[in-house]
Amino acid sequence: MIIKSLSLRNFRNIASADFEFHPKVNIFTGNNAQGKTNLCEAVSICLGKSFRSPKPAELVPFGSDENTETVIELSFSFDNLDKENTILYTQKKGSFKLTFNEIEMKSAEKLYGALRYVSFIPEDLYIVKGNPEKRRDYLDYVSNMINRVHNSKLYEYNKALRQKNNLLMKLEGYNTEAAAAMLESWNDTLSRLGVNVMCGRLKYFAFLEEYARKYYSMLNQNNEKLSVKYESTIMEDKPYTIEDVSLMYETYMQKLRDTAEKELRMKYTVAGVHRDDILFMINEMPSKDFASQGQIRSIAIALKLAEAKMIYEKSSDYPIMILDDILSELDGFRRGFIINHIEKLQTFITSCNISDIENVSEGRMWKVEKGKFEVC
Ligand code: ATP
Ligand code: MG
Repeated sequence: MIIKSLSLRNFRNIASADFEFHPKVNIFTGNNAQGKTNLCEAVSICLGKSFRSPKPAELVPFGSDENTETVIELSFSFDNLDKENTILYTQKKGSFKLTFNEIEMKSAEKLYGALRYVSFIPEDLYIVKGNPEKRRDYLDYVSNMINRVHNSKLYEYNKALRQKNNLLMKLEGYNTEAAAAMLESWNDTLSRLGVNVMCGRLKYFAFLEEYARKYYSMLNQNNEKLSVKYESTIMEDKPYTIEDVSLMYETYMQKLRDTAEKELRMKYTVAGVHRDDILFMINEMPSKDFASQGQIRSIAIALKLAEAKMIYEKSSDYPIMILDDILSELDGFRRGFIINHIEKLQTFITSCNISDIENVSEGRMWKVEKGKFEVC
């Protein structure tokens, strides 16, 4: 997929801008707070998921009157096909409309997964240093990008989990045995759905893990070793494979039975895929606690490069790369590695320092000041 052009009207601090993009690297440079991230966000909205999750009304320029309309029009073609496709996003008075080749889409998320892209934004550093929820969300996001049923399994799991937790609130005063009998059917539902979610995650995790490890070594010239582990609150250190679904189910059920007493005390489900985590270690030390800024960034970048590789391997389509402020805090070798790597893909990359983006052989560059973009 190649994005050909983009037009913006009344989008955040960008009153009006029109872009013809290069099929390879598109660079946006400028000082802080000029509009680089806003531009990346506009592209991501058209591809199905804004990385900032704004309310539509927040997209109009500050101080606009209520009739101001935000317009984002993006045209793209699938590889080797000349046909141009248009995605048009309009927003007025807080309600938005999105069309794909003039057909109205109920939600932008319907496009997500069909139009494949990988984004890196500074908030992605929290995948490494933030709380476990960030890591689970990331893994679910990647799994769903390839396999669209993953989110519906997760949705069913979370619904059942809420229902079981509601029941746990009501079981005060029951003896453990009677309460456990009442929880049994919820445990069965959670175990079945939980195994589904775990398998959905692990199918892609294996690929991410292998490539993130390789990219991390390349980024630091083999000086450090990254290891990535899925930490299951159910399987713990027991050996298992995702092919052995019945072993996973039995272990899940047993764990829920074993934790019944604690659940009744705490009034929520203490083990399951909603409590799993990913552990990143550099040279055997947990990155969350010990890694430097550059190391944390390098892990997040290695994951994103692995994600792009996986999308290509699974769909034979190169994803679009949207890389917002990816190069800061990195040394020259790491910056060079990234530039060299992304040159093969259509990329949108921002940086405050033009000198950070050296040796791009094929591309186009814009300078942005106060929301105005100029090709340079
Ligand atoms: P940095 O290098 O610091 O990341 P940036 O160029 O990426 O800067 P943006 O995040 O694109 O900056 O923001 C540019 C400006 O747009 C900021 O001053 C921001 O406050 C402003 N802005 C955000 N939303 C709106 C809006 N709805 N209307 C007008 N301006 C907005
Ligand atoms: Mg920015």
